[in-house]
Amino acid sequence: MAVPKELSSAKRFGPRYGRTLRNKLSKVESQHKGKKKCPFCTWQKLKRLAAGIWQCDKCDKKFAAKAYSPKVQR
Ligand SMILES: [Zn+2]
Repeated sequence: MAVPKELSSAKRFGPRYGRTLRNKLSKVESQHKGKKKCPFCTWQKLKRLAAGIWQCDKCDKKFAAKAYSPKVQR
């Protein structure tokens, strides 16, 4: 059975909790992984150090943003 790629992180829950909830979870979790675009130098070098703490490998800037995405609220 083929599982859509974006669902793979929620695969561990199997059929439990319902599809909608697992969709939401995998969406959030897929944002944890992988590099994000830095708002300062626009390189894809941003990593999440902890919930709400992001650091850029390129310009070495560390900043606080939302827990699951580097979008800074203005
Ligand atoms: Zn940067």
